[in-house]
This record gives sequence, structure tokens and C-alpha cells, in this order.
Amino acid sequence: MEYRFELALCAALESTDRVVSRQLGAGVTRPGGRIVDVCLLEPGPGFPDRAAITPGRIPAMAIEAPVGPGSAVPVTEVFDLPPARAHAVADAAVEAGYLEKGRRDGRDVVRATARYPNDWIGSLTAIENKPDLGTPGDLRAQLRYDVALGLFDSVVLATASYVTRAHLNRIPDAVGVWRFDPESGTREVIRDPTPLAPNEPGVEILTEGSTRTDIALIDPEAKARRRRRIAERAYGKGWRPTPPGCVHAETTADGQPYCGHFDRVVDPGRDCGEGCVACEPADPPPSGRERLRDDRTAWVAEPSGGGPHRQAGLFRFG
Ligand code: SF4
Repeated sequence: MEYRFELALCAALESTDRVVSRQLGAGVTRPGGRIVDVCLLEPGPGFPDRAAITPGRIPAMAIEAPVGPGSAVPVTEVFDLPPARAHAVADAAVEAGYLEKGRRDGRDVVRATARYPNDWIGSLTAIENKPDLGTPGDLRAQLRYDVALGLFDSVVLATASYVTRAHLNRIPDAVGVWRFDPESGTREVIRDPTPLAPNEPGVEILTEGSTRTDIALIDPEAKARRRRRIAERAYGKGWRPTPPGCVHAETTADGQPYCGHFDRVVDPGRDCGEGCVACEPADPPPSGRERLRDDRTAWVAEPSGGGPHRQAGLFRFG
């Protein structure tokens, strides 16, 4: 139920002034220690500049490296890594369309295809899905973690349940609450979130026990780096899964993977494949993901400059 709730919520939240993604690592010292269900990215002033670089994710190591569009720098000086690894990172950034490569004095050199904008992330909202509040699992601990860390600008709980005062009392005050009906796609705001402070230090809860809680203090610079990584991931990834490779697979009008045999939206990773008695392997149906993302969100499929590789090979490094 949670999977279908999540996809329906992502579809309902799409609009041309934001980007929607799902299942993103949101810890700082342990990025995968906390996975947020849905992330909303609202554009900042530099968004068009970021969108013009590439529709994909730009590798964080390339963004954080001392290389810009001004002058070409030897690959092994840009990345403080063993040479083979430095070249692999550079190649990934070239593939993404952010770096371009050339030769100078017998060495591989790189430079950025554009200045990376520092102000393209307007805000990041984390949404935790709990369709049924009757089985909350570790919801409270997850929301406490998000609020203490303050990595996102705001945190929201989305549920299909009727929300009682007792439910509200059990979650942190700063967390907003939405009631969402996945069938109709309608959303009722029960409580608005209180803005968090991503520009200030935060506390990452590493383990929480009855007698002992381990934490890490996170400075604003580490949060900013992590936010940029999350935003890059969100921008490149979106939320639509690849449809299953099955003759019964279809996609809904808004791009959710659908099974014509069982007549429902499916989780390709869990419902399909060898474990399914009705599976008949075939090429996945066209998902229309790129067209839908481009039409329905702020994401740009084909930047006006031509997208990745638009300038590859045009420069001569002297
Ligand atoms: S693998 Fe099974 S659940 Fe998935 S699309 Fe095919 S028939 Fe449907």
C-alpha cells in the first residue's frame, strides 16, 4: 500500500515550479542511514543555469573540485584521488556534461562547461509517507531525526488516515501533516510545517536507545554539501520507476507502472519478475518518463544549449 500511496502522491505533487523525487539518502555522516520517501525541490534564482548544464545528476566530486570554466586543470590535480579513480570521476562528469576533457603537455586536463550556480536550490521539503497511522513503525524516531538535523527546509508527514489530536501530539511540532487520498489525488493540509534552519548547525541522531543516544554535531557547511547532493540526485532521478519487462506491463497516463493482468499499479522491484506466476518476459513498455517530467515539472529534458556533450571536443587546450 505504501508504494502505491507514494507514487500517487508524487504524481499529485508534480507542478511546473518544482521537481519531485523519491527514496533519497538524507543522512550526513551516514547518508544511507536515513532515506526520505519523497523530496520536493523548489527552484532558486540559479535554477535555469543549472538546468542548462544537463538533465542528469552532476557528480558531487566534480562540483566540489577546484575546477571551473576559466582554465583547464590536470585531472590528477583536480581530484585528490589515485590516478585511475581521478580519471573515472572526471569521465563521469564529462559524461554528465559538466566537465570537458582535453590534452595539454601530454596530460589529460579538464574544465567545466559552465559555472555551477550556487543558488539553484530554492528549498527542499522532505515528506515521510505513513498511509496508515495505526501501524506507525519507527515514524516518530524518523521525524525526530529530521527535525533535529534540520537538513531540509521543512518536513511533512503524509497519511491516508484520519488524523486525531493524539496522532498530532505524538509527532514533533515542526512537522507538517497532510491527509492524502491516493484514489482521488486530493490533499488536505491538516497542519503546515514550521520552517527548519538548514543554514544553522544541526544534530544528527546516530543511534537512539532507552539509556543512551549517540549524536553527531553537523556544521552548516556539511549540511550545504549534503543538500546539494540531495538536490542533484533529485534533479537527475525524478520519481518514476522503470516499468517491468513483462508482456502485461503498461504505464498509467501519469507514468506509474501498471499491470494489465492484475489490474493495478505495481512495484516492479517487488511484484514482478520470477516471483510472479503471471510474468511473461518482454521488453518494458515505453514509460514516457522524460516527456512527462519535462511537461509536468521544472525539470528540463533538453537544455537549449543541446544538453550533455554540447561543447565536447570544441575546445583546444593550449
Ligand atoms: S510480472 Fe506479474 S505483476 Fe509484473 S507486470 Fe507481469 S504479470 Fe503483472
